[in-house]
Amino acid sequence: MLTFLGRGSAFADEHNSSFFIDNGNLILIDCPMSSFEKLNDMNMTLFDHIYILVTHTHGDHISGIGMLVDLLQFSVKTPVTVIAPSKEVEGDLFYLLSRIEGCNNAWYELISADELEAEWFVCPIATTHTDELSGKCFGYCLNVEGNRVVYTGDTNTLLPYEKYISDGSYLYTEVSAYKSPVHLYCVDIQEKIKEYFSRGVHVFLMHMDDEKRIGDVLKETGAEFAPLINGGTTVGDTTRILDGIFEITDSLYKDMCMNNSADHNMLFNYLTGLGKTIVDADRASFWKWDKRKGEIWTMSATGIDKIVIPDNTGLVGKALRLKKTVITNDPYSDPDFNKEIDIKTGYKTKSVLVLPVADINGNFIGALQLINKNDPQGFDDEADPKKLSLAALVCGIALESETFLEDSHHDKLTGLKNRMGFYYDFGKRFKDYIIPEAGKTMSLFICDIDKFKRVNDTYGHNAGDDVLAFTSHLIESFCGENDGVYRWGGEEFVMVMRDATLEDAVKKAEEIRVKLMESDIDADGTTIRCTLSFGCALFDPKKSIEENISKADEKLYTAKETGRNRVCWE
Ligand code: GH3
Ligand code: MG
Ligand code: MG
Repeated sequence: MLTFLGRGSAFADEHNSSFFIDNGNLILIDCPMSSFEKLNDMNMTLFDHIYILVTHTHGDHISGIGMLVDLLQFSVKTPVTVIAPSKEVEGDLFYLLSRIEGCNNAWYELISADELEAEWFVCPIATTHTDELSGKCFGYCLNVEGNRVVYTGDTNTLLPYEKYISDGSYLYTEVSAYKSPVHLYCVDIQEKIKEYFSRGVHVFLMHMDDEKRIGDVLKETGAEFAPLINGGTTVGDTTRILDGIFEITDSLYKDMCMNNSADHNMLFNYLTGLGKTIVDADRASFWKWDKRKGEIWTMSATGIDKIVIPDNTGLVGKALRLKKTVITNDPYSDPDFNKEIDIKTGYKTKSVLVLPVADINGNFIGALQLINKNDPQGFDDEADPKKLSLAALVCGIALESETFLEDSHHDKLTGLKNRMGFYYDFGKRFKDYIIPEAGKTMSLFICDIDKFKRVNDTYGHNAGDDVLAFTSHLIESFCGENDGVYRWGGEEFVMVMRDATLEDAVKKAEEIRVKLMESDIDADGTTIRCTLSFGCALFDPKKSIEENISKADEKLYTAKETGRNRVCWE
């Protein structure tokens, strides 16, 4: 019904005033200076006539009228009528406005409510507020878009309004977080609001001095904060959203700093959860752009499983391609929207926001996606990306750090994990097997390509690289879910096998040995063959990782000594 330019009390940074539009006319209720700026942002040339309905003459309700009259006279050129609630207030207003420099009486029309004839106007409602305004303070009863609207203005009682508040009507009531003789104390009106709400009255709170306290006290009453022109929240929402945000950041901090099993995935989960909470969306996901593979995939997502799609598809792909935020509140009409996921899951996507994120060099590396904002209007082009910016930024930094970490754990030539990756895995994946009491067995082998120097010397380094890559992939193809394979050094590889006995390790090593021995390798254009020697050991939890590897290495040495292309064990 009414849109608020501000809903704060005299001591807030924006003051109470609102407006509605009727038949091409703009009707303002009060005009404090703090609202003038917002009015100036509106295109007032669109209106045929502007009415300013005054409730009382306190500065936080009328201080912008002089400036507005000036603006309308010189720039906008729209006629303006100031309406006083009574003849007496009209006299006061005439006196006050006449004394504003540059606010000529000829530039506006000043009338009292009894002279006004408009379909949207019902009557002023006299009330009580401060002593010196006795008999000069009013609220209004209006007819907005065919609905009964009761606007209390500043008041210390709801009594004068009672008879105008019919079932299904709209009540805009002032409320204060503090008990005083001049305003309505939030605790005192709690029951009354509940009663109105149960009668289907739409109750909106305005002229507030402390939204958080008022929101807390009135959150169960059905009342809402009056809607602000630049997007507002409902009672309890601000508190709920803030509480949600702090809850997440607190858990994130604790998990990152106090829990040594923290990793990037956990961080992404928290950050997407944070984004979801901040904009009150139903789903959130964080996507990584794998430029090498031309894919984008979900690192973290609520409500969906991991998804991998080509990077030129979907709204995430669009945001990365355009290098800018993509918002749609009608996704089905966007050709880039991927309906397939909805069709598969039966979920109806109604609004989407994608914020692409860049690394420290400004290269886009991923995107934060939010789906179905809990608001029929969908996502807001300006407010929502702003709210999400910090979460998206941290996602970008986390993704970059994750990528660096991944890269540092991998070997470029073979794609296998390197020694760094080995140590990292050991502390995480194989952790349970290092503790002696766990009673779990683990075995490992180390292997080394035989006479590999000769490959390099005979066929060149590129051929040597091809052999290394081929051998790595072959060993990797034997690596099960419980195993880890690493490029230990030049042409040496280590495989660690959980829940494997020494016999299991020997058996696997033997299979790999035979398989490689029988494989033709294309080495830089020449077909060659290679063999591997192995040393196997049962992991001894009482010994260090290094000691365990060196046990296997001793056996590898034996294999080399006794003719190569063989498997030796402890
Ligand atoms: P042995 O059977 O005793 O293991 O003999 P070997 O020739 O395999 O062992 P040696 O340690 O003498 O030689 C290993 C060679 O592996 C030397 C080194 O140049 C080569 N090498 C190490 N890393 C790479 C690599 O990334 N690419 C290529 N092409 N060669 C590599
Ligand atoms: Mg070798
Ligand atoms: Mg070697």
